[in-house]
Amino acid sequence: MVAVVVGFLLLAASGPAPAEAAAAVPVSAETAAAVPPSDETVRIAVGRFPSAVTIEGAPFVVRRGADDTTVALRKVRLAVGKKGLMVDGQPWGADVATIETRADDGALLLAGHRYRRVLEVRYQVFDKKPELLVVHPLDLETYVAGIVSAELPRGWPLAAYQAQAVAARTFAMAAKYRRLELPYHMEASVIDQVYGGIDREHALAIEAAASTRGVVLTWQRRLVNAYFHAACGGVTESALEGWGSAMDYLPGSSCERCSDAARYRWRTRVARKTIDKAFARVLGGPVKSMKIVERTATGRTRRIRLEGHKRATTISGSDLRRLLGWSVVWSTMIDKFEWSAAGLVVEGRGSGHGVGLCQWGARGWAEAGASWQEILARYYPGAALVRLF
Ligand SMILES: [Zn+2]
Repeated sequence: MVAVVVGFLLLAASGPAPAEAAAAVPVSAETAAAVPPSDETVRIAVGRFPSAVTIEGAPFVVRRGADDTTVALRKVRLAVGKKGLMVDGQPWGADVATIETRADDGALLLAGHRYRRVLEVRYQVFDKKPELLVVHPLDLETYVAGIVSAELPRGWPLAAYQAQAVAARTFAMAAKYRRLELPYHMEASVIDQVYGGIDREHALAIEAAASTRGVVLTWQRRLVNAYFHAACGGVTESALEGWGSAMDYLPGSSCERCSDAARYRWRTRVARKTIDKAFARVLGGPVKSMKIVERTATGRTRRIRLEGHKRATTISGSDLRRLLGWSVVWSTMIDKFEWSAAGLVVEGRGSGHGVGLCQWGARGWAEAGASWQEILARYYPGAALVRLF
């Protein structure tokens, strides 16, 4: 199969491929041919359990290897035993148990979420502690529909879901080829992309995946790093400022359509006690003063000067979010930063890291009549859309 270019976007920047993109898999005709559509699966880590987990659902078998199966069950308990994995109270004799329904539409219930057909439970030692890691292998396109469903609210225009579908597919394939040797390619949380299983899927998300089937974003014939975030606050951040690594297709873009986001504008008050605790290790004592001393070209906070009684230091805007909480300081686009004896008042715009597709902006542009191709061209300028299958 030959990769078909379905659209070139005309805002191309020039220059060598960035270092990080160079590590991604090349999207060439050869690669596309080696990946038939029915074979494109991704492996998602959907849960970690320190002692035991119960899986139930449609009649299933528990497999040890390719042929070695147990009788059909509807419920099974897997546990961490003294010598490894236990299945229904018996030593399993292997580190992996594969639970598989016979019906194509069979579902398995794990910790309140339903998944299609197959779950793998792996006994492993992580951070010196034994645990059970549950991995769900599934078809890439089904996964894309699931990401669109879980990442975006309902009731948005189709083009916004389609743009998210292409970004999610690109992100997933890049992650897969970076982590081929690992038991899973992505987490099911915000660490990678939020995936919630069957129950969160809805018809428009499925339509968004189906109508963009196989389409990914590329730069110089490689998959791009298709970052996305909730709301940029007016202008997206460059990859260079956001991640410290220049990427030609992520120069920072004017958005101006995310003002309907709940956190387009936000205000946070952080008590003095909380601040002193958060920065105690950095300063070796209480904070005397805090001040933004440098901003990026898009107005985000690049450096903050922190003074203590013993020493002073500078931290990045991202450090501030990490130390005070990602859901306390919603973004680094800070309009007002007021330090007083009582603590800190921060007023800002947008939520998330601000790099790549702005989800609320995609919604705004879709409502204004933009196509998914136009939306992607805005947030990943110069990236080409390639249909792999
Ligand atoms: Zn935006």
